[in-house]
Amino acid sequence: MRKDKCVIIGSGLGGLACGVFLARNGYNVTILEQGVQPGGCLQCFTRRGVKFETGMHFIGSAKDGQVLSRMLNVLEIRDNIKLSLLDETGYDVVSLRGDRYKFPMGREPFIAQFSSYFPSQADNIVKYYDLVKKVAEASSLHSLKHASDAVINTEYQLRSVNGVIEEVVSDEKLQNVLVGNLPLYAGEKDKTPFSMHAFIMDFYNQSAFRVVGGSDLICKALISRLEHYGGKLLTCRKVTKILCDERRAVSVQTSDGERFEANYFIADIHPVRLLDMLDTKLIRPAFRQRILYVPNTVGGFSVYLHFKENAVPYMNSNFYGYAGDSPWGCECYDRDSWPKGYLYMHFCHTENPNYARGGIILSYMRIEDFSAWNNTTVGCRGEGYEEFKRNRAERLISMVEKDFPGLRSRIEHYYTSTPLTYRDYTGTEGGAIYGVAKDVTKGIACRVPYKTKVPNLYLTGQNVNSHGMLGVLVGAFVTSSELVGMDKVYKQLIDAEI
Ligand SMILES: Cc1cc2nc3c(=O)[nH]c(=O)nc-3n(C[C@H](O)[C@H](O)[C@H](O)COP(=O)(O)OP(=O)(O)OC[C@H]3O[C@@H](n4cnc5c(N)ncnc54)[C@H](O)[C@@H]3O)c2cc1C
Repeated sequence: MRKDKCVIIGSGLGGLACGVFLARNGYNVTILEQGVQPGGCLQCFTRRGVKFETGMHFIGSAKDGQVLSRMLNVLEIRDNIKLSLLDETGYDVVSLRGDRYKFPMGREPFIAQFSSYFPSQADNIVKYYDLVKKVAEASSLHSLKHASDAVINTEYQLRSVNGVIEEVVSDEKLQNVLVGNLPLYAGEKDKTPFSMHAFIMDFYNQSAFRVVGGSDLICKALISRLEHYGGKLLTCRKVTKILCDERRAVSVQTSDGERFEANYFIADIHPVRLLDMLDTKLIRPAFRQRILYVPNTVGGFSVYLHFKENAVPYMNSNFYGYAGDSPWGCECYDRDSWPKGYLYMHFCHTENPNYARGGIILSYMRIEDFSAWNNTTVGCRGEGYEEFKRNRAERLISMVEKDFPGLRSRIEHYYTSTPLTYRDYTGTEGGAIYGVAKDVTKGIACRVPYKTKVPNLYLTGQNVNSHGMLGVLVGAFVTSSELVGMDKVYKQLIDAEI
């Protein structure tokens, strides 16, 4: 039987997941990746023998029967990646001006722990937790319940995180602690929808893990399944054009002029980059205009730490440190007030290591701060850029040192990345950490659809549904359902644990 051909642009998590799912369901899949390495944000790099993750540091809901575990089973990689459970009594630790709060996994431990921090808020903490659960479960693909609750979905996509939390919880400090993990979605006050907060809180609160050996092993496992089903991944293939006839897309062209024909095309890239590739009347000017103005999340500055041997005990939790009383507004800084907050994590090179070999400190940074180097490329940005990075890295390490005295003396080497690094490695528009931002004040105007007006061209990846392991996989299943049908997707997810 002749197989329908599907070409996927970009080998990030979304492109790979669509590729495996469609190949497993009988499609002839080719993934074209512009970079030397596949994986987009799943990529790792190794320097002086230590491996560093660039954009996927921990994942959630991966215990047997939980939603991510099922998705990984459908993609046939659950047994091929080793996960290490984060501290169940405090997978996340939030520090506001040095006061620390641990986030335990599970409903009862979470409620008990937070009620011990804020006894007068005990009832509100129950309300908050149950609301998070209700919102997360209202989406059929997050909860794997067949019907979505459209009313709840819509309401909490249109209300801001702070608006809802302020309504449920009256203690200001508790309101701030509960949004301590804002860097996981680059949340902005009065803009980010509560649904985003709820999905992420619920995802990690069910169970939170690091990937033993690094997140590129997820990428390797997916490629292995893709190839098992006859699919292929070609690197160093930058797609520059999508060629259409008057009705549909017929082929894509790469920068070296090679063409790839297919029946279906899926773009795992930023929608603005996709529009650059399309010169067809099928895309209306109004759509083009709307997409050009979708907001993006802020960029990020990372310091990758290579620790001296046996010097830094492995920290089995994520640490969110803030200089002030509130996690909000860290993206609004000037030269002197940066950094206002940071996220600090260790990498898990082996299962339950006693000492960490590597870690990362991540803080927001706008790409505008790099306008002087806007037209430069990786490795050729000059000494001024290196000096800027050194200065910012030292400032960030000094901030972390206040929460972790002695850290600096235990660092053997460090490396840095900026929004320009992400822009140039993963093609992220504006170096945005998580791609397109959701903004309740813009409503539907910042939603990127799965389908385009070119009937056989679809979008997937973090810009469409949501970012992160769960957001991107949910998006990949929705995109794939356009080809194979949602019932078939659902059946495979429901059967996945059997
Ligand atoms: C610093 C950081 C930390 C993060 N931490 C976590 C975490 O701990 N947990 C979590 O769940 N999520 C995390 N995320 C988010 C998560 O990594 C991403 O949401 C997800 O990996 C994005 O996948 P994607 O498929 O959308 O695309 P991307 O990873 O952006 O990949 C897109 C791919 O398309 C390729 N491409 C672009 N243009 C072209 C072209 N013209 N032709 C061919 N190929 C092209 C790019 O080279 C790239 O490989 C983090 C992200 C960042 C940046």
